Amino acid sequence: MKKQYLSEIMDHPLLGKLLPVDFSPLKTCSFNCYYCSLGKTTKITMEREEFYPVKDVFQEVDSYIQQNDSPDTIILTGSGEPALYSKFGELARKIKEKYPSITITAYSNASLLTDPEVRKDFCECDVMQFNLNAVNAEEFRKLNRHHGNVRIEDVLEGMKKFKTEFNKPIWIHSIFGNNFNISEENIIGLRDFIAEFKPEKYIIRKFEIENDVKPLSNKTINFIKSHMDSLDCECKYMGFD
Ligand code: SF4
Repeated sequence: MKKQYLSEIMDHPLLGKLLPVDFSPLKTCSFNCYYCSLGKTTKITMEREEFYPVKDVFQEVDSYIQQNDSPDTIILTGSGEPALYSKFGELARKIKEKYPSITITAYSNASLLTDPEVRKDFCECDVMQFNLNAVNAEEFRKLNRHHGNVRIEDVLEGMKKFKTEFNKPIWIHSIFGNNFNISEENIIGLRDFIAEFKPEKYIIRKFEIENDVKPLSNKTINFIKSHMDSLDCECKYMGFD
């Protein structure tokens, strides 16, 4: 049977056998990040919707697990920002109730965390992951090209508030691109935010785009490492060698 909401299980270095579950039209997001692997955001929005019926999404997940090997982890991704799915909490809860041994996670840009309903929905996850590439407004906007209603101050406050309500692991990811978010001010500001936030893991990556975004210089890479290495949390560099 053709799958509408699922991708194939993939091996993930941190999450084991990972099953991605989709629930929004490509591509629905509050950001339009320069490096996004899903392409350009066609619907930039902050409005939550039940893009596809939650019972249909759950049913497809359920039949897949009944007929295949069980994944270690399910990532509720959406084709864009997962918080935009208004049935996120219900979907996560249904999967967890039926398959309690599977880890449920999501990877969010944190832009809707000022909404208590979004925080409540994300609390259904076992591990929550956020992307945070900049702490100053200019670099944040330049790289993430976000919806006009997003403010970096709200993103940072929303993340802190969520941490007080979620007593499970939180991972933060930062992705660095040449000429986007590599000012000393931003790197040090990120380090300070992470030091205070204390995520379980801090995952650092970089991006380059042929003929467009040049690779990071060794000087920048060393600057990032020299500051992030002093953090107390587990710091993982992916693709930095
Ligand atoms: S937040 Fe994620 S899905 Fe949205 S544009 Fe950025 S990388 Fe793509």
